[in-house]
Amino acid sequence: MQLFNTLGKRKEVFEPLVPGKVGLYACGVTVYDDVHLGHARSAVVFEVLVRYLRWRGLTVTWVRNYTDIDDKILKRAAEEGAPWEEVARRYIVSFQEDMAALGIPPAQIEPKATEHIPEMLEIIARLMDKGFAYQRPAGGDVYFRVRRFPDYGKLSGQSLEDLEAGARVEVDELKEDPLDFVLWKASKPGEPAWPSPWGPGRPGWHIECSAMSMKYLGETLDIHGGGRDLVFPHHENELAQSEAANAKPFARFWVHHGLLTIDKEKMSKSLGNFFTVKEVLGRFPAEVVRFFLINAHYRSPLDFSDAALEEAETALLRLYSTLARIDELTAGRPAPPAAAPPGFAPAALSPEERERLAALRDRFQAALDDDLNTAQALGYLFDAVRLANRLLEAPETDPAYLAFLSRLSAEIRELGQVLNLLQDDPAAMVARLRQKTADLALTPEEIEALIARRTAARQSKDFATADAIRRELDEKGIVLEDTPKGTIWRVKG
Ligand SMILES: [Zn+2]
Repeated sequence: MQLFNTLGKRKEVFEPLVPGKVGLYACGVTVYDDVHLGHARSAVVFEVLVRYLRWRGLTVTWVRNYTDIDDKILKRAAEEGAPWEEVARRYIVSFQEDMAALGIPPAQIEPKATEHIPEMLEIIARLMDKGFAYQRPAGGDVYFRVRRFPDYGKLSGQSLEDLEAGARVEVDELKEDPLDFVLWKASKPGEPAWPSPWGPGRPGWHIECSAMSMKYLGETLDIHGGGRDLVFPHHENELAQSEAANAKPFARFWVHHGLLTIDKEKMSKSLGNFFTVKEVLGRFPAEVVRFFLINAHYRSPLDFSDAALEEAETALLRLYSTLARIDELTAGRPAPPAAAPPGFAPAALSPEERERLAALRDRFQAALDDDLNTAQALGYLFDAVRLANRLLEAPETDPAYLAFLSRLSAEIRELGQVLNLLQDDPAAMVARLRQKTADLALTPEEIEALIARRTAARQSKDFATADAIRRELDEKGIVLEDTPKGTIWRVKG
């Protein structure tokens, strides 16, 4: 499998350090509020990566932390007049509820920063011994001496000169250099504090991830992941302090996903342009949301809109509808043989199409092997469904025909499982997804039939008919969009 490594900025063949065993650490959330859909993207991307690595036979240890001490948590607690521990606990529960509602299982290890203070102090002590950390005056903040680490900037691809030009010219008596970052914050009156050799205080943000990842996965991780926005400064600093302390590579692969945007701007709490997972799940089924989040390459930015979610809903309905039709056709019949006899060739498909179906699993795997290209992998599932629909339109009496369809349906579901999709009962899911379209003048089958006629008309260059069908659908409140995966429809909003 190839993965794009931010360190080196290219796709590289991924092999774990210990054959067969992968350690993956993905930065989790700061628990001071309900999470938004951008956080869900991070959770879904790494969950699918973990699923895929396991499907490929690897044992994966997946660690995702909670930042449960931070300025934002203290600010929230002060606003509410509540203890900070209670705020942190409440939003850890809220995050866990949201993930469960989204259908994403927990990571195997979900450590909390506040439970790993001794491990952080141990790393800071090592950095002190090696001259990478300093404190002035005694009792003040402890900083990392950036200029002493010659590789600083290698992850984000910035030189010290670039960084210096970008650094705020701040007068900070405590820092030797504006580039230095904090490892340990001296406590201010009224703030939570833990004892340390450098006085009572609390950890800086970056040190917690170094401490927790190394504790559970060793000094060199196979994969360290997070959103693009974490490359600098968070991951650059994690890398610097970890490699300075251990004198060995910290993470072999740095995997960063693109950000979720609204109108091309990052979805973030601080910009105020966000939708919480709870809000989105109030309007769309969890599987539609997961489908939306992986129907784009994980490294691309992904723009959120109601129309995009509705499109995802229609696309998922199309997949489930075909599975439901196959279920219906085979229900009550004697169980067909597990596979059609090798010589069976359904008449509705050309030899090239039959070959495509036979290669479905290989193509699906090749897409995910290529830097986890979930969009391409889904494209192959849609292709299979399109061909299955053609078979359904041309029923055959040969019992091998049913066996062929059953086998295809089972394979689509099995591959869907790798993406955490298509595991629901098809008929129930179709009924659920159709509720929204119940007031339309057309049934989804009628819409699909019109789309098929329009596609055929376009293929035979009968554009007048194609346009007339588009107009007819438009008048009935259905908008069409031609995509590389075929024509999709959605209800005009
Ligand atoms: Zn982190």
